[in-house]
Amino acid sequence: MNQPLQMLRLKKNESRRLRQGHVWIFSNEVNTQQTPLHRFQPGECVVVEDAAGHPLGIATINPNTLLCGRLLTRDHQQTIDTHFFVQRLKNALQKRQRFFSTPYYRCVFGESDDLPGLIIDRFDQTVVIQCNTAGMQQLLPILTQAVIQVLTPKRVLLKNDSRSRTLEGLEPSCEWIYGDAIETIPVIENNCHYFALAAGQKTGWYYDHRCNRQLVSQFCSGKSVLDVFSYVGGFGILCAKAGATQVLAVDSSQQALNMLQQSAEYNHLKQIETACGEADEILHQLSSQHQQFDMVILDPPAFIQRLKDKAAGLQGYIRYNQLALRLLKPGGLLLSASCSMHCSQADLLAVLQKASNREQMQTYVTHIGHQGPDHPIHPAVVETQYLKALMIFKQ
Ligand code: SAH
Repeated sequence: MNQPLQMLRLKKNESRRLRQGHVWIFSNEVNTQQTPLHRFQPGECVVVEDAAGHPLGIATINPNTLLCGRLLTRDHQQTIDTHFFVQRLKNALQKRQRFFSTPYYRCVFGESDDLPGLIIDRFDQTVVIQCNTAGMQQLLPILTQAVIQVLTPKRVLLKNDSRSRTLEGLEPSCEWIYGDAIETIPVIENNCHYFALAAGQKTGWYYDHRCNRQLVSQFCSGKSVLDVFSYVGGFGILCAKAGATQVLAVDSSQQALNMLQQSAEYNHLKQIETACGEADEILHQLSSQHQQFDMVILDPPAFIQRLKDKAAGLQGYIRYNQLALRLLKPGGLLLSASCSMHCSQADLLAVLQKASNREQMQTYVTHIGHQGPDHPIHPAVVETQYLKALMIFKQ
């Protein structure tokens, strides 16, 4: 970047969050008399200053969003170029390589890797990038160069269709920006081969549940498993491979279930069945047929998107947990997950308490699972902690 950056000034006392290590700036914290937001282009890099004029670093800015700024670096003299991204990517990679010996992981987890708004998943030589802010969108050309330099992929998919992009006023898109296009992406996780869908949800695969999948797979040999909200079979395929005698995967996406079947065939697993449709309806149906399983996995999409939806979302979790408990044999195990950032671990425990009470069942939490080490939690950015999974024993 050759031109000097514009300056964004914060109001008095509004630099505290940044000083404590967080990286977000909200529009009501900006001194708009001195630095009106409309002067900035969406995605522009700016130097952030506190009310007294002390520089706090460089942020990307979007004048049209409530969460209008995200700090990229605390060095206000830093040049935001390919070299900057190469360094950030190397740092992110170092964290992953400490935990994983094969190149399959979330390589960049936004704020937790000091690259706010950016997600990068690595599937060996296939890399999937998601830019969730106007800032990262602007920086995409140089960041792509850095990705190619550091990760030396064969192909790069730009999977820009997240919900947060809409808030940022960005168009959805999904395109291969480097190398040849492929439809299915081979994944290896927990020594198991899967196929993810390039045109699928999020980046095509949910790496965050890696440890929870490993956990349930330890207890499913010789057991029947119901995998609710299965997507492409992250849980179900591993359970079948670990010796489950029967796996029923439920999801509303036929495309996802087709991919799950492809993974089942690849692994020579014949004990897997799928049911496509509304989970609610299918679970009620199974319950009316008095079917029960030794293990139920319940991994719904985020029922609480915004804080104001919390009460309604929690009711949704309670309803599904009730259904799951009904479908569980006595002595069975339920893995109950929530990926809603606004549903805390304590909230999820309360969900279980209510569901157990209503079903008049005795339950116990035996393990508490969370997002894997490729989704590190930034201690100052509490929003980076979002995934909870309770392993529950039903008496
Ligand atoms: N358990 C999966 C990830 C689940 S993501 C894994 O381990 O990878 C949530 C899934 O819920 C998606 O696949 C989505 O298609 C499905 N889904 C969302 N709403 C649904 C509904 N009402 N009924 C059934 N499936 C639904």
